[in-house]
Amino acid sequence: MKYIGGHVSAAGGVENAPLNAKAIGAKAFALFTKNQRQWFSKPLTEENIKLFKENCKKEGFLPEHILPHDSYLINLGHPESEKLIKSQKAFLDELQRCEQLGLKYLNFHPGTHLGQYSEDECLKTVSESINIALSETDYVTAVIENTAGQGNNVGYKFEHLSQIIDKVHDKSRIGVCIDTCHAYTSGYDLRNEEAFHATFKQFEKLVGFQYLKGMHINDSKKELGTRVDRHESIGKGFIGLDAFKFLMNDSRFDDIPLILETPNSDIWADEIKLLYSLEK
Ligand SMILES: [Zn+2]
Ligand SMILES: [Zn+2]
Repeated sequence: MKYIGGHVSAAGGVENAPLNAKAIGAKAFALFTKNQRQWFSKPLTEENIKLFKENCKKEGFLPEHILPHDSYLINLGHPESEKLIKSQKAFLDELQRCEQLGLKYLNFHPGTHLGQYSEDECLKTVSESINIALSETDYVTAVIENTAGQGNNVGYKFEHLSQIIDKVHDKSRIGVCIDTCHAYTSGYDLRNEEAFHATFKQFEKLVGFQYLKGMHINDSKKELGTRVDRHESIGKGFIGLDAFKFLMNDSRFDDIPLILETPNSDIWADEIKLLYSLEK
């Protein structure tokens, strides 16, 4: 079974996210557990935590179908140690918030080398940051997202994801999230059946579906291989509807959160319906 949702608002408190997800007919959702554009947010209250859990239960959302996303400020591959430590601390806080909410995953972008050292060095730093964070938390799984490869971001090749995973000590607490827009603009074609299967054959070989904990399902405003990160509504971009039809009819994408991050959230309810209508 497919679990489709959107990255919904948690304005007014994290407890509102499951209600916002339910309102658009979602079976899964993503959220920020704090303000994504600030380094510090006040801690979750007992009340936030209690209501979040109650609302998830009431609306039928299980922790494995919820994919929280960390702050955009965090760079676990930062080349400067002081700034790296700041990111590592913020990442730990994010993981702890997820554990307080009873959530299983935290989705994050691996990092950027800022042109100051090599991709390999940056990827190694990302693994070290993950190891530190996992050693200071109990059970939450760190879920690395592939990137479009814009600027100096690492994570735009499946090889990068496997390089990070290789150096993580606790393989039971590391996973990946594949964003279809990022995959496409980083050079992985998805537009026809052969291309779609070739891309995920590569993924299976280099990373492995056992690590796939979620997907971001976005069309793309930019062409194949442009390495630019601009999401488009489903079926309206360069990827096109067929790719999502292949995905909806492929059991390798069952039982994980499939999250819309498409630009017009007013049509997410329609996009969810559209995606389910593609199932044969
Ligand atoms: Zn994404
Ligand atoms: Zn993106």
